Amino acid sequence: MSKKPNILLVYTGGTIGMIKDYKTNALKAFDFSQIVEKIPELQQLNCKITSVSFDEPIDSSNMNTKYYADVVEIIEENYLNYDGFVVLTGSDTMSYTSSAISFMFENLQKPIIFTGSQLPIGDLRTDAKENLITSIEIACANNNGVPIISEVCLYFEYKLYRANRTTKISSEQFEAFTSMNFPPLAESGVHLKFNESLIYQPKNKEKNLIVRKELVDEVVILKLFPGISKLVVESILNIPNLKGVVLETYGSGNGPNSENFIFLLKKAIDKGIKIINVTQCKSGRVMMGHYDTSLLLREIGVINGKDITTESAIAKLMYLLNEYLSIEDFKKTFEMSLRGELTDKYHF
Ligand code: ASP
Repeated sequence: MSKKPNILLVYTGGTIGMIKDYKTNALKAFDFSQIVEKIPELQQLNCKITSVSFDEPIDSSNMNTKYYADVVEIIEENYLNYDGFVVLTGSDTMSYTSSAISFMFENLQKPIIFTGSQLPIGDLRTDAKENLITSIEIACANNNGVPIISEVCLYFEYKLYRANRTTKISSEQFEAFTSMNFPPLAESGVHLKFNESLIYQPKNKEKNLIVRKELVDEVVILKLFPGISKLVVESILNIPNLKGVVLETYGSGNGPNSENFIFLLKKAIDKGIKIINVTQCKSGRVMMGHYDTSLLLREIGVINGKDITTESAIAKLMYLLNEYLSIEDFKKTFEMSLRGELTDKYHF
């Protein structure tokens, strides 16, 4: 990379690209092709920036698998012509979207940095400028032409995270995201400090980029709570064509060990539904068999989500269900780290 890095900004929607209509006080999307005029500071960056925008930018609450595929397609079509990608989405579902995109690309060798903001770009106290400028700097960062980042990340409020480890934790604070089970990959202070030992290093540079655009959306997240009724569990597990469940359990992966509950789960597993055990705790991991209340889950074939987030688990489920793996291979593949989304003995 002797020339200036070429960065593609992909705007899907969200607060970052909005301005206030002072007549109505409502936020509305602005013409993103004017991004450099709106943030003249971008001209000071030592890179060439091009931007593309969804025809109709969306609030990230409207995000879905079709839009995931649109983002993937934009990056795929431009992959060879750009050195890095910065994807702007609303923060509300950014962890879901960026986790999904991390699975939809395999053998990635360029940075894809997701960012957004809590306040619109035109707001006096906006966090948008710093988030955007530093994300672009990260997408440009290289060592003798080799990109420092070659994975899907999320940058917000001075921290760069592995995207599929993140969760949105605040609708109010600028520090809107956290990654409880994995440290930040970089921190921005006076200097931009990369934690190079944690950053994914592509092992085989000869491998071609694999792009997946099909995901299975016949999935559900089932969060346990004391008193959850048999009717609720039964109704959810009997949704027609249901293929996968992210089961949010207590603590280190525990759930009721009543006969009814275990019977319903076992019946679903026997029908071919994949059930993933993730913890409701914000940090820590599932350890099936550690307590009596998770032993039976393991015995009936519930899959161990280890320390994966719910956002990443649902994305991984949507991706792996489309791979048509045998029951054994599905379990084995889910329980290993594919993009650094969970901690296991294999290094991804
Ligand atoms: N509701 C907005 C969205 O997620 C909030 C944001 O942009 O951060 O699209």
